[in-house]
Formats: sequence, structure tokens, C-alpha cells
Amino acid sequence: MPRVQLPSVYLKRGREKSLLRRHPWIFSGAVERIEGSPASGDTVDVLKYSGEFLARAAYSPASQIRMRVWTFDESEAIDAAFLRGRLERAIESRRQLGMLAPGAACRLVFAESDGLPGLIVDRYADFVVCQFLAAGVDAWRSVLADALFELSGATGVYERSESGLRRKEGLKSQHGLLVGSPPPAVIEVEAPTTRHFVDIVHGQKTGAYLDQQWNRVRVAGYARDAAVLDAFSYTGGFAIACLRAGAASAELIDTSADALAAAQREAESNGVADRCHFSPGNVFDELRALREARRQFGLVVLDPPKFVHSADQLHAGSRGYKDVNLTGLQLVRPGGILATFSCSGHVDSALFQKIVAGAAVDAGRHVQILERLSQPADHPVALEFPEGEYLKGLVLRVH
Ligand code: SAH
Repeated sequence: MPRVQLPSVYLKRGREKSLLRRHPWIFSGAVERIEGSPASGDTVDVLKYSGEFLARAAYSPASQIRMRVWTFDESEAIDAAFLRGRLERAIESRRQLGMLAPGAACRLVFAESDGLPGLIVDRYADFVVCQFLAAGVDAWRSVLADALFELSGATGVYERSESGLRRKEGLKSQHGLLVGSPPPAVIEVEAPTTRHFVDIVHGQKTGAYLDQQWNRVRVAGYARDAAVLDAFSYTGGFAIACLRAGAASAELIDTSADALAAAQREAESNGVADRCHFSPGNVFDELRALREARRQFGLVVLDPPKFVHSADQLHAGSRGYKDVNLTGLQLVRPGGILATFSCSGHVDSALFQKIVAGAAVDAGRHVQILERLSQPADHPVALEFPEGEYLKGLVLRVH
């Protein structure tokens, strides 16, 4: 039991159901009354209407997700030792997966799925980058940063808390060194079949998209001798893996000139720059232009950003996916491959498949699923938190 009495949040009658299934979110509408006056990020006890203990959670007054559960165990205090224990468990699980080789990159902590709601931690060789995306982990930022520094053996811990999710928690963007030495301009990391230069200060998110690290290898398995189109390429992870696996050429499209400049450097370092073509621009326009020019590719990769951020964007986002997949399919030569992804959690794999099937009908192509892809083992999905499942991909044969 904690030594001091924590503020108590009583839930409305019947609103304990999701907690009994161990779901970690409690929405504002479930709260009946509060005893005490918790501030943002404070630890509270969550009680049933009748006063029975349900969970210990972080309080976030600005957010619709009013509380995120730390523990369902009443005897567990939320302190530095507790947080350190959760970090240790997360890091150990990556170690067991063999993902902590020197020079490698991997996600060390995946938020709710690792029992640390709102905390993202990515390791790039000797450096660690974190995002505190909820009030609870934000309140514990220095404790978490110190523990990460020690447990990971990193030379520095850097913060890139810039997501829109922080705004929903009433928190401002934060960016900078938390512990240790400042990061170099680029960090060299060894991916499964390629080498990358990650700019953790200026790059998107924490610097790279680690969730596609292994999917790039799977997709590259279809690339031999192909002309590859890497749409939404960022720094060209898919294109470079495909070229290393024997693709004839690759065309990369991204709106970010910085991303394409980084792609050029990475292509050079991987010895494939002479087979790359870089097209800065909007994928929607560029794909149409390629179609007008009657270009065809043996392998098209579509890896767009999240189109659906909330349930009310589902309709518009689905149209975006259909549109880009329709044009993408039209650019695949008969018998070629389309590798298509969605990272919108609100679009589940069944819906995504339906959207792509609709695009195939409209494109007049016969399409088969060869392989289904998802997020890797360093982005695990806790069974009680299905929201943690967000990345889905289809590798398709397009006749
Ligand atoms: N495939 C990449 C990750 C892609 S993330 C990898 O494997 O690393 C999505 C990318 O799409 C970002 O780089 C972003 O700059 C880019 N982007 C977003 N909207 C775009 C648009 N309409 N046209 C082109 N690029 C876009």
C-alpha cells in the first residue's frame, strides 16, 4: 500500500467493465466523482462506484482519456522502482528477441503495450530517443530518462515529444537532450540488410520508422530485377532494401526534400545510388503523372502516413487509401507486385483488405494476397489493449 493516501476517483456504476478486462484507459465520461485534487500526471486510485479498488492510474485532466492505468495491483506503489521494473521488463524482452545487437536499432518501449502508457522509446545504436505522449509519463520524465540511460547503456537520451497526442494531454512539444552526451548529426545504424544514417534531432518522429524494419526485408524478397516504385519513401528504406536484393532500379517519391536528401546519402552508403531516382512531390499527383506517362513497375510500395487519426476521419481516410491503391495498382505491370500498408489503427486489417479489394475491382485487375504483414516483435500488442495493433500490410500479385 502506498504510504500516503492518493486521490480517489470513483467511477460511475457499471463503468468498471473495461478495467475488469484490464484495458488501461478510463474516459472522462466514466468518472462519477473525485476525492482530493489531483494535478496533471498525478497518481490516483481508481475505485468502483461501491468503493472497491480497481486500479492505480495517472490522471490527465485535459484529456478525454482521463486516466491511464499503471497497475491493477493494489499493493504496488508507483515510484522510481516501479517504473524501472517496467523498463527492465521491456528491454529484457527485446534482448531475448536478439534485437539489441551493437549498432542495431529497435523500439525498446511501446507505450501501453509495455505497461508504460504514453511512453515511446527507440534505440539507435548508442543513442536512445523518447517521446512522453501522456501526462503520467511526462510527470516522471526525469526518473524515466535516468533509468533509461542506465539500463540501456546509451551515451545519451534525447527527447522528441512533438506528437499531436501531447496537445490532447494539455502538454507542449518538448525537444532536446535529457541525459548524457548530445547526439552526433547522424547516427549510423545497421538494419537487417542495409545501413542507415538516422538524424534523431531533425528526422520525422524519433528519426526513423522502425516498425517497417523487417517488412522491408520481406518486400525486398520480391524485388529481384524489378523496377521499384517506393511511394511515401521517407529516407528510402524500402527502395534501398529492394536494390540491395537485386532490384534493377528504384524511384522514390516523398514530399519532404530533407527525407529525399537523406535517402540520397543512404543510397550512396549502401552502394545503390546509381540505380535511384528521386522525385520530390505529392504521391497522389506523382502517381497520376506516372500513369499518364504509361510507366509500369514490377514492384510498387505504398507506405502512406496515418490517414485516419480518429473515428470521424474513417470515411475520408478510407477514400484516401482507396484512391492511392487504385492508382498504385494501375502502375504495376501484369504479374508484378504491390506491397501496400496502412498504419491507421482505426482501419483494421479486414477493412483495409476490403478497401484494397475495391480498388482492384475499379482498376480491373485480378489481385491475389501472397503475404500479410504487420508490426514487428519490438512493437508488441498487449492482448488487453488491441488499440496497440496499428500496422498492416498486404503483399499482392497483380495480374
Ligand atoms: N516508407 C518509409 C516510411 C514512410 S512514412 C520508410 O520505410 O521509412 C510516410 C512518409 O510520407 C513521410 O516521409 C512523409 O514525408 C511522406 N508523405 C506524407 N504525405 C505525403 C504525400 N501526400 N506525398 C508524398 N509524401 C508524403
